[in-house]
Amino acid sequence: MKKAIGILGGGLAGLSTAYFLDKSAYNVTILEKEAKCGGLLRAFVHEGFHFEFGGHILFSKDQEILEFILSMLGENKIQRYRNNKIYFKGRYIKYPFENELSKLALRDNLACLFYYLANKLKKKRLPKNFGEFLYYHFGKGITEQYLWPYNEKIWNINPALMSLEWAKDRLPLPPTRDVIKSSLGIKSEGYKHQLYFYYPRAGGVQALPDSFLAKNLEAGVKVITNFAVTGIRRQDGRYLVSGPDRELAFDQLVMAMPVHNFFKVWPEAPAAVMSALNSLRYNSLAVVMLGIKRDQLTDKFAVYFPDKSLVFHRVCFNKFLSESMCPPGTSVVQAEITTNPGDGVHDLSDHDLISQVTAGLARENIIKPEEVITAKVERTEYAYMVPQLDHEQNKKIVYDYFLSQNLPAVGRFAEFEYLNMDAVITHAKKLAATLNQAS
Ligand SMILES: Cc1cc2nc3c(=O)[nH]c(=O)nc-3n(C[C@H](O)[C@H](O)[C@H](O)COP(=O)(O)OP(=O)(O)OC[C@H]3O[C@@H](n4cnc5c(N)ncnc54)[C@H](O)[C@@H]3O)c2cc1C
Repeated sequence: MKKAIGILGGGLAGLSTAYFLDKSAYNVTILEKEAKCGGLLRAFVHEGFHFEFGGHILFSKDQEILEFILSMLGENKIQRYRNNKIYFKGRYIKYPFENELSKLALRDNLACLFYYLANKLKKKRLPKNFGEFLYYHFGKGITEQYLWPYNEKIWNINPALMSLEWAKDRLPLPPTRDVIKSSLGIKSEGYKHQLYFYYPRAGGVQALPDSFLAKNLEAGVKVITNFAVTGIRRQDGRYLVSGPDRELAFDQLVMAMPVHNFFKVWPEAPAAVMSALNSLRYNSLAVVMLGIKRDQLTDKFAVYFPDKSLVFHRVCFNKFLSESMCPPGTSVVQAEITTNPGDGVHDLSDHDLISQVTAGLARENIIKPEEVITAKVERTEYAYMVPQLDHEQNKKIVYDYFLSQNLPAVGRFAEFEYLNMDAVITHAKKLAATLNQAS
């Protein structure tokens, strides 16, 4: 007899786990809180302007998984060249920052190069946190001008309070010769795995979860939306999962929803696990979309803003991806703002956020306030996990508990890892293979 498996959460992790599960061994049901699946990849269309929870592009160092992702999109894909910039003291510097130092004012350029090289020659003790890691590898110039303020802004925390382990895996280190070349004005590209990226031709990044959803439905997966899991209990070796209007029984669960939400509905966790969970910090995100009455606003896709007097840390110009992102003769701006309760931004009204983004972009001559013809704000509670110094030890307590309960977790906030789409799908495939083998 087939086992009933309940997947909690219909983001990319839940959808792709369902896709890889053996349907001859499992009756698969996805339970999703929102009216549509897709989680962080959901697209919003407001008065013809398309935006998302931050700029999402398709790329991977893993060629096999990239090809798989592209195959899920069929013909619905385009390729783009990374044209991302850092907006620094009124100048656009090619991303990543250390690859176009010659575009800085001469004094800033020389400071970056001098401290970078001096740092290479200096005897230093090994870094103990992310902040020290920045100084250790990039020197005082690049760190204090760009890396520190930008990271402090996006993470909403002092980089010295962030873990080193995380940084080692995430931040590519430039070869010394590239930094020298960039200071002299000789072209270099920085890390190349995102130099060319893909994006769906139509439907925005939501086209990817939509494709998984369609294939799942064809294969007989049951998908229940508007089903926020509100309680889970165990009875006779089965899990009883309650939602808004009913209780469903499963032989096996897969946790593909944020771990903090899971523990709100799982009554059995010991105090030590709850204490570790509550120490796992995360950032929320507000996205402000502005519809602009100007055909050609910019030739860039993403622009990074380290300047702390601007509320947003990154702005994406979605028309770069596809003309279909906004009505003819207009452009669309998508500003990302990291927030946490108590930071003075989290509780701002939509109106205030829109005003601050409009004023900031106008101050930098990127738009004119009178060009804004429509605006909308969307917020997501879970956007970035924040790897604090005690992150790994708290995670271990929480995930050892999951193991002890035979509750597999998959996904960005289910696993509390900085996972991009390619890693989410890779983890989902691996988990499904384990479950298929055990069936
Ligand atoms: C700003 C930003 C930019 C990004 N850019 C990129 C990029 O360029 N390229 C890339 O590859 N990746 C990018 N990512 C990462 C990518 O968004 C994630 O890897 C991926 O979307 C995570 O999918 P998930 O299913 O793990 O999580 P989620 O999308 O968070 O899905 C979790 C699901 O659980 C549901 N849920 C929550 N609570 C309950 C409940 N009680 N009951 C039922 N369901 C519940 C939620 O509604 C949601 O649908 C970016 C992420 C962010 C935040």
